[in-house]
Amino acid sequence: MIRRLRANLATVVMKNWAGNVTYSTAGILRPKNVEEAQELVARAESIRPLGTRHSFSLVADSTGALLSTEHLDRVVEIGADTVTVEAGIRYGELGSPLQENGLAVANLASLPHISVGGAIATGTHGSGVSNQSLAAAVSALELVCADGSINRLRRGDPDFDGAVVALGALGLVSRVSLDVLPAFEVRQYVFEDLPWRAVETDLDEILAGGYSVSLFTTWTEPAIEQVWLKTTEELHTKSYFGAVPATVPRNPVPGAQPDNCTEQLGVPGPSAERLPHFRLEFTPSGGAELQSEYVVPREHGADALRALRGLGRIVSPLLLVSEIRTIAADTLWLSPFFERDSVAFHFTWKPLGDEVLAVLPLIEAALEPFGVRPHWGKLFAGSPRQLEAVYPKLSVFRELRHRLDPDGKFQNAFVARHISGDEPAQPGT
Ligand SMILES: Cc1cc2nc3c(=O)[nH]c(=O)nc-3n(C[C@H](O)[C@H](O)[C@H](O)COP(=O)(O)OP(=O)(O)OC[C@H]3O[C@@H](n4cnc5c(N)ncnc54)[C@H](O)[C@@H]3O)c2cc1C
Repeated sequence: MIRRLRANLATVVMKNWAGNVTYSTAGILRPKNVEEAQELVARAESIRPLGTRHSFSLVADSTGALLSTEHLDRVVEIGADTVTVEAGIRYGELGSPLQENGLAVANLASLPHISVGGAIATGTHGSGVSNQSLAAAVSALELVCADGSINRLRRGDPDFDGAVVALGALGLVSRVSLDVLPAFEVRQYVFEDLPWRAVETDLDEILAGGYSVSLFTTWTEPAIEQVWLKTTEELHTKSYFGAVPATVPRNPVPGAQPDNCTEQLGVPGPSAERLPHFRLEFTPSGGAELQSEYVVPREHGADALRALRGLGRIVSPLLLVSEIRTIAADTLWLSPFFERDSVAFHFTWKPLGDEVLAVLPLIEAALEPFGVRPHWGKLFAGSPRQLEAVYPKLSVFRELRHRLDPDGKFQNAFVARHISGDEPAQPGT
């Protein structure tokens, strides 16, 4: 049996999208359908699901087998208010079938290239004061458990809130049902040079000024460089809190070409082609970057911003750009937005691993007074003790993990460190 499992393992050196993680696995399994995935999981001693490899942390890593969901990418059923998909489908591939049926998901992340399974497992989000994380749109899921059997969970079931943002630690999510709503059009406007004074006094209003709002800054310029406003309304304003409309398309990274970005200048289009910043048909960048993101309760947004500005001169030389977004609260135990309307501070770093890892503790110390929670899929330094303090359901999740996976088949070093508390933390892992 072990020989058969090995025969399925393609032995290649496998890196994540950014190339900063070389997976510790001996190889990778690529089941063609859910039944095959169930068999592979049942036979494995140690296994982790793998989506499109866009995480920067070691969350997806495994010394056992990695099970890629790249062929589990079918749309299973489109209903009036729900779509059911296999978890390996990328959000960008879901937009057209939904649009053809007059439907859309409520929100999307900055890039459409990520798998549904990977995005929900890490609490991936877009922006918008009324928009929850992508995980909060999950109404039901099918979990391939350690023995290969399928556990079906629906919103409202006792374990459901623990099983959506689960870091791959409970099993392979094979199918997911997502809430959908009637298709809608979005217009994207970019404004430039938002005065810091306005940001410090009117942050909440600025972030609430559209369906989805993102602020892009490198922290040391005299003004916030760009505001990306995605709205269902046509705008005629010549000023957004003192920022002026861009007259040509922009890339959020200062000086970068806009070709890979979604259409701007207020041209209306399907939400799936405006809510992500980047187009599916392009790579958002060469992958020569690292990312971190930190989430604080919305009421601390302006104070957290001030604290981060104080680190501007240390952070800025390592940075491509920072993005500030909002996310509405949810009830998912390991969600960074668990029971908190939030502001997220994102950092797209130059690929300078050691230097970046050295500044993360400074950022985390600056944000600790605000109860900061890190993005699970991006680089952070926080200790398990700090996570315990900000995730009130962490111990309940631990019990769920022990119950659903008593032998730790889906455990990896990341889960052992940050969730189980079994291993000492190491920065950036
Ligand atoms: C250029 C870029 C832009 C990004 N923009 C955003 C953004 O706008 N907002 C944001 O919040 N994040 C963003 N991210 C982070 C990204 O959304 C997360 O890292 C997400 O987890 C990536 O999904 P993936 O399919 O690549 O997952 P992977 O990195 O492959 O896996 C991540 C985790 O999900 C688990 N997993 C994957 N599939 C399954 C499954 N089917 N069942 C159970 N567990 C599973 C894995 O075990 C692992 O623990 C960005 C990343 C990049 C590279």
